[in-house]
Amino acid sequence: MTKKTDVVIIGTGAAGLFCALHFPEQTQILMLTKEEVDKSDSFLAQGGICMLRGEEDYEGYFEDTMRAGHYENNPASVEVMIRSSQEVADELVAYGVEFERDGEELAFTKEGGHGRPRILFHEDVTGREITSTLIENVRKRKNIAVLEHTAMLDIIARDNSCYGIIMQDADGNIECVQAKYTVLACGGLGGLYQHSTNFRHITGDAIAIAKCHDVALQHVDYIQIHPTTLYSEKPGRRFLISESVRGEGAVLLNKNKERFCNELLPRDVVTAEIEKQMSKDKMPYVWLSMENIPTEEIKSHFPNILQQCIEEGYDPTKECIPVVPAQHYFMGGIKVDLSGKSSMAHLYAVGETACNGVHGKNRLASNSLLESMVFAKRAALEIAGKLPETGFADICGMVDLDEYQDIEARKKEYRRIVLEEIERERKSHE
Ligand SMILES: Cc1cc2nc3c(=O)[nH]c(=O)nc-3n(C[C@H](O)[C@H](O)[C@H](O)COP(=O)(O)OP(=O)(O)OC[C@H]3O[C@@H](n4cnc5c(N)ncnc54)[C@H](O)[C@@H]3O)c2cc1C
Repeated sequence: MTKKTDVVIIGTGAAGLFCALHFPEQTQILMLTKEEVDKSDSFLAQGGICMLRGEEDYEGYFEDTMRAGHYENNPASVEVMIRSSQEVADELVAYGVEFERDGEELAFTKEGGHGRPRILFHEDVTGREITSTLIENVRKRKNIAVLEHTAMLDIIARDNSCYGIIMQDADGNIECVQAKYTVLACGGLGGLYQHSTNFRHITGDAIAIAKCHDVALQHVDYIQIHPTTLYSEKPGRRFLISESVRGEGAVLLNKNKERFCNELLPRDVVTAEIEKQMSKDKMPYVWLSMENIPTEEIKSHFPNILQQCIEEGYDPTKECIPVVPAQHYFMGGIKVDLSGKSSMAHLYAVGETACNGVHGKNRLASNSLLESMVFAKRAALEIAGKLPETGFADICGMVDLDEYQDIEARKKEYRRIVLEEIERERKSHE
């Protein structure tokens, strides 16, 4: 059986949802996600989302983003992201997102690498607030259908043009989705790593599929390690201790409870300092002290972190907590232009799966939700403009569904392809 839709969007994180919401109501959109609709890394975001404070903040914000990215960022992407930030924040508020306020005015917090507070937040669950509001809005739209527990297995491509995807639905059926445009919004690749803050099902599938079809990739070895995740001996996803905890005054301590670095330097620098200290101390973690943050503020600004630490046996209002670096974010991805267009016709990529060079070699804190939405919207607007002149191609004969029966072997192969590509790129930079 073949499904037919104007646009298929793979992924229901901030990028996929924001993209879907920016199509006209007459565009038929099919969204799919491997798990439940809210199981995305966007949902897990704690710290917040950056917003340009005013014209006087432009140069500082631009420089902070470039410095964090080791000046390997694409300056045009950075400019578009920053210049679009107030509009995105306004749209989120109009959708119903509740950011923290100081009286009537929006309140801002600070994170590592930022010269001043410019991060909007909702307690320490900003991603949950944004994503669940976007999901509510998507559910109100009659032109958007969402399939949960449904995985993209491949794209349908011929002569460098994309005609849709192959998917496996919740009942295990494998079928084709014929689409005029395909948007990959599949997130990062943390599920490939033993220690990661990402959901385990987010495994870089779009990167493997792109590689198999010769779609251009960029910076695939640029992988961000977050300096502070709660140390645990249990297997599974690592719990993030947001950078804004350090932004509000928490300090890192060695085994003798002495400070050993500036906690507010960019992530890669702090990670390197922690790793050096762990090896010096011969310890699998360092300590994080929240002693400088008033207890009331810990309770009101970081309730989720507080609860998680307590569940793990540590009370951060009274004692230090053990923290360790873990894989967190993928700066590289499918090479795209400023509207998310890949090197293959009719194929777009947005969010963490895509790489328009905005983050350079290292992402500045709280730039990723923003980047996901800014460029997802641009992709939607560009595709919407092209839809009236695009017809459906005949995909009969392009696909042999029997090739997709051994899903486990395919998953293993995709995993191998991504890890091999990362290693190949890494070596090419040595
Ligand atoms: C713990 C944590 C905290 C964070 N905190 C912040 C923060 O404070 N500020 C900030 O800006 N950023 C933060 N980030 C990063 C940010 O949340 C993500 O980078 C960003 O939201 C990525 O959004 P996305 O829509 O591209 O991908 P995701 O939100 O990861 O969504 C990916 C989607 O793709 C689906 N998918 C993947 N493969 C397939 C497939 N084969 N078939 C079908 N569906 C598939 C998944 O099911 C999911 O729905 C944080 C990340 C984590 C993990």
